[in-house]
Amino acid sequence: MSEGLVSAAYIVAAVLFIMSLAGLSKQETAQNGCYSGVAGMAIALIATILNPSVGGVIFILIAMAIGATIGVKLAKKVEMTEMPELVAILHSFVGLAAVLVGYNSYIDHPALTGAMKNIHLVEVFLGVFIGAVTFTGSIVAFAKLRGLINSAALALPHRHKMNLAALLVSGYLLVSFVNAGGSTGALIVMTLIAFIFGYHLVASIGGADMPVVVSMLNSYSGWAAAAAGFMLSNDLLIVTGALVGSSGAILSYIMCRAMNRSFISVIAGGFGSDVVATGDEEQGEHVATTAVEVADLLTSSQRVIITPGYGMAVAQAQYPVFEITQKLRAKGIDVRFGIHPVAGRLPGHMNVLLAEAKVPYDIVLEMDEINEDFSDTDTVLVIGANDTVNPAAKEPGSPIAGMPILEVWNAKNVIVFKRGMATGYAGVQNPLFFKDNTQMLFGDAKESVEDILKAI
Ligand code: NDP
Repeated sequence: MSEGLVSAAYIVAAVLFIMSLAGLSKQETAQNGCYSGVAGMAIALIATILNPSVGGVIFILIAMAIGATIGVKLAKKVEMTEMPELVAILHSFVGLAAVLVGYNSYIDHPALTGAMKNIHLVEVFLGVFIGAVTFTGSIVAFAKLRGLINSAALALPHRHKMNLAALLVSGYLLVSFVNAGGSTGALIVMTLIAFIFGYHLVASIGGADMPVVVSMLNSYSGWAAAAAGFMLSNDLLIVTGALVGSSGAILSYIMCRAMNRSFISVIAGGFGSDVVATGDEEQGEHVATTAVEVADLLTSSQRVIITPGYGMAVAQAQYPVFEITQKLRAKGIDVRFGIHPVAGRLPGHMNVLLAEAKVPYDIVLEMDEINEDFSDTDTVLVIGANDTVNPAAKEPGSPIAGMPILEVWNAKNVIVFKRGMATGYAGVQNPLFFKDNTQMLFGDAKESVEDILKAI
């Protein structure tokens, strides 16, 4: 394959990636968006392997075969609820790859002089820095999402000063690295600082802000890939990295707006959020109910809203939930869904599950579209949601203070489906469970919904 053909293939791949992003922005076109992305990646890989300047094709193919086998195995096994963890750990690979490419490019590069040499050294330094931050940050995010470490904010004393000091020292090391025409010592010290900085940055962000962290690390991994593209002089990697970096940044901004958080405060490792008080002690008496009672309540209601959350995803209850919806609608009862922007464990999680169960899009409403309607609603089914319906968000001092929530308690009756009295992801007790108009239906969400279905 000639150099010209490789460049042409890269342009086609870049256009397909842009079409992929455009397609993914709407549910109706998302599938085609995925196909464009796959086609773009296939073209990019083939063109890269056949590039005349690339040697050792056999090694690349062996590495790809090993990687693809592991990837396919893991992707088949992973549950929908584990997707964010998978995404987080994949981001860590991108970060580590950028670090390795950086070191490789520092050790082995064409002879350069003057400004070109300085530019190359800056590329190496920044590539390794961003990659190292992304690597450890993503591992912490993975561990938090998987429940391997506590999702609460770490909140060390003077944490912002430590972050600032890490940045200043890294800036100083950059200057001395370039001035010395390259210095292995400075590069290694900076890499260690960046590893610790990435760890601390994400560990300092509390559970409820994790959605932003996931999209922020997505953005960082894009910039790490772009930095690797500069070091490898690969235009497609620069374009792709910039697309991922900027779309991740836009997504983080949208998530922050949805959660009423300051973008700067979250990306600066929870800057300004000095609340650590969590509490899981119960705040009164709760009332338990049964599936038969809930079935009676539903059939005597005129308006019903269902607010699903992470528990519905874990239980895979979306299919029987849709069957109940159909039965109630056949009886002339108005049933709609209220979706919180960060319900579940990844942006759009609930929309994907409901679409999978074939729930029509027109009865699935965003939080802002439905929040006013709860006061006019007879029964709300809170299926496996907790933080996203927690009135504690209205109280200053709570770790989730300021986060907009689905105001389900304004309805006449609220039924909460969960297995026990455990807190949600943010680790904050939920006063909703102790309100007079709330009843708890304990058990696995899928089993509870199926029992209600039978009783209806
Ligand atoms: P939460 O995670 O707050 O709560 C889920 C509830 O589901 C728990 O209280 C749990 O209670 C219950 N549950 C778990 N398994 C089952 C089951 N099998 N059957 C019935 N109930 C079950 O859910 P939300 O969706 O309300 O909130 C999402 C949280 O996740 C927010 O804090 C958000 O910030 C965070 N997050 C969101 C991301 C995103 O992009 N959407 C990414 C990362 C984090 P019990 O154990 O008692 O059953």
